[in-house]
Amino acid sequence: MSDGSVARTRVVIVGAGFGGIGLGIKLRQAGLADFVILEKSDSVGGVWRENHYPGAACDVPSHLYSFSFVPRADWPDKYANQADILDYLKECARSHGLEPHIRFGAEVSEARWEEASSHWTVRTRDGRVYQTQALITATGQLSRPSTPHLAGIETFAGTAFHSADWPQDLDLRGKRVAVIGTGASAIQIVPAIAPQVGRLYLFQRSAAYVLPKPDRKYPRWQQALFKRIPALLKLSRLVIYLQYEAKAFAFVTWRAALRFKRIAFFRNLRRGVKSAELRERLTPDYRMGCKRILFSNDFYPAMERPNVDLVTDAIADVRSVAITTADGVERKVDIIIYATGFTATDFLAPIRVTGRCGQDLQQAWRDGAEAHLGSTVTGFPNFFMLYGPNTNLAHNSVVYMIESQIGYVMACLQRLWRDEIRTIEVRQDAQRRYNTAIQRRLEKATWSKGCTSWYLTAAGKNVANWPGYSLEFHWRARAPNWDDYAVQ
Ligand code: NAP
Repeated sequence: MSDGSVARTRVVIVGAGFGGIGLGIKLRQAGLADFVILEKSDSVGGVWRENHYPGAACDVPSHLYSFSFVPRADWPDKYANQADILDYLKECARSHGLEPHIRFGAEVSEARWEEASSHWTVRTRDGRVYQTQALITATGQLSRPSTPHLAGIETFAGTAFHSADWPQDLDLRGKRVAVIGTGASAIQIVPAIAPQVGRLYLFQRSAAYVLPKPDRKYPRWQQALFKRIPALLKLSRLVIYLQYEAKAFAFVTWRAALRFKRIAFFRNLRRGVKSAELRERLTPDYRMGCKRILFSNDFYPAMERPNVDLVTDAIADVRSVAITTADGVERKVDIIIYATGFTATDFLAPIRVTGRCGQDLQQAWRDGAEAHLGSTVTGFPNFFMLYGPNTNLAHNSVVYMIESQIGYVMACLQRLWRDEIRTIEVRQDAQRRYNTAIQRRLEKATWSKGCTSWYLTAAGKNVANWPGYSLEFHWRARAPNWDDYAVQ
């Protein structure tokens, strides 16, 4: 792809998922056409392109899991499935004229700040080079699959793959399938494939708290009404937002309120699983809210199917056609599905980002990733992140958080251009103050102790979650406080 030339542009965005597309739309609306979006794959959609496993869907309502500035009246379901979300993102890119800005097959390997010219040089794996005034990463928190190395996996004669890497045309009929993991992905995969497979073994290391998912179809008349009266659609989004925001009360304000959710969990488990012995094994042994609370109406009933077995003994090793557990039991399998999550705490890896004075970003983050409002990092001028450290939510839509950050980044970019500024860089003391305060709050938060989760680094630092209400984040990100920034 490379002809050795350097393409010059004002803005480089990395990633064409929710973040990259949302920012692209805002740049176009602000009249800026001089930007490119570098996308490693061959189409838009980010995690919603990659995670196309059977049953893939969202557990946040569609009216809220979409941009407020690109509302969609005709979502068919209250909780959209993967295909509908992917179509929505494709349509966002198409209808807002983003396609000419996107460079597909452009996986960024390196970005380096050039002090002399105050520019970023961005390189892709296939040798393309871009020089840009501002670099914005929108690579998500859940884009790199985490696949455990099982002893003996090299000898496995069947097919093994990660849930985010589902093979096209996979025929599961009659097969013996092992699903490893019981997170949000696994509880969607299991009920979707159980009716087709010969036998399904679900290897569970920790049980999940699963609550009912109040899903329903939006009837045509309601979709038409939303289309006809846009204020109604806005109202629907607002009501859903407030319902979800209220959930933070139990996480953030009064943790004892989680006991009501616990009651709802036991009721759901009793309703879904008749066998007391199976219920016992599906009951988590850690406090609720520590890992993400999951939503499904069909996971528990699927676990009672005669062709589904829950395996709670640890995997000891894999042989050519079998998995053996620590108790010595061997189970014959043809297919292994790793529903084992993502390396969420390694933000931006494997991209090598080098800032002022040759400073390496991963080195700067050796004690855990951090940024100011999840967006800017000291030592890295004109560099911005969407869905960066500590901007994930356990109770509400991350699209809302991404939108808040898009507004913040746009304000920085507009200042950069309006005042013909060379660089904007967050001050070290502002970043430190901000992170000390949120880490202090996170220490007391329900997600930070008592279990392992993708929110925490190996050392136990929570680098994923925002510690409070999303409204607070939105308020703090409504405009940059220029006292926090060094502007040259
Ligand atoms: P996950 O929540 O990180 O779950 C990974 C599962 O794999 C856990 O049960 C984990 O067990 C298990 N596991 C990991 N390594 C293992 C090993 N070596 N041996 C045995 N078990 C192992 O990953 P995910 O289900 O892919 O979900 C990740 C995130 O994606 C979710 O939290 C959510 O934010 C997002 N997601 C969202 C939706 C949605 O509806 N919006 C759907 C899918 C995914 P332990 O718990 O013991 O570590």
